[in-house]
Amino acid sequence: MKRPKTFRSKSNKKLYPVRDSVGRFVDIQTYERAHRKAMRRKKRAPDKEDPNSKYWRNKADSAFSIFIRKRDGECLFCGSKENLHCAHIYPREMKAFRWKKWNAIALCAKHHKFSIDFSFHKNPIKFILWFMNKLPDTWKTVATATQGPLTQTYKEVYEELKEVNKQWNA
Ligand SMILES: [Zn+2]
Repeated sequence: MKRPKTFRSKSNKKLYPVRDSVGRFVDIQTYERAHRKAMRRKKRAPDKEDPNSKYWRNKADSAFSIFIRKRDGECLFCGSKENLHCAHIYPREMKAFRWKKWNAIALCAKHHKFSIDFSFHKNPIKFILWFMNKLPDTWKTVATATQGPLTQTYKEVYEELKEVNKQWNA
């Protein structure tokens, strides 16, 4: 591509002529303005081609969060239906467990993150003791789970969850 001819403003800022698709002059802009839009577009462009890209990982995360919050319907600790979070038991960095249905429950923001009396993040001991008692079968799965590699692509995880989530609209 031919480099556009540049100009300088009085303050010595680089200026670019902006042209339309047939090359007619439309505007003159600073480098920042002329390229900001293009850069933003580039940054935002999701990498849909790669089934293991962040784009599909984010899609899988949102679909999983919807699943957990719909399944539980309320904070399993206090019953609140407000500010529900999808709280992971094993951390999300453990990819093989990240989207396992036994590895998350719905908790309100307070009981997920903020309460020193009871929240997973601020008082994990209390949380685990409660969890073992509240969901003994899930606890058994959690306690005996062995970490292997994630056997699906992020895209496959997402597509599976999307199907499962159709039940909430039925
Ligand atoms: Zn709660």
